[in-house]
Amino acid sequence: MGDPVAVVEEIMETKPIAVGTILHGFCGGWFGRESYGCKRVEALGADWIVAREVKGGQVVFASDEKDKKVLLWLEEWTAPVFYGDGTLLCCDQ
Ligand SMILES: [Zn+2]
Repeated sequence: MGDPVAVVEEIMETKPIAVGTILHGFCGGWFGRESYGCKRVEALGADWIVAREVKGGQVVFASDEKDKKVLLWLEEWTAPVFYGDGTLLCCDQ
């Protein structure tokens, strides 16, 4: 309580990833250090995801062959991303 960052995190709702899910922003770098845009999931397997950037249409790929938890790690980014000052970083989708 009293921590603005904590409040923002509390209202963010994540959801399981499926084809069509939007992953917002940088996604912790899972899709590479160059991929800052929001992405729409086009295909996924047990330990990989192919997505397409909403702006520009670039296809990006993430995988986690070692721990097979990429789908779990990326769930965090199904919620809109906010910067520390409360600014929404988003594709409006
Ligand atoms: Zn977005």
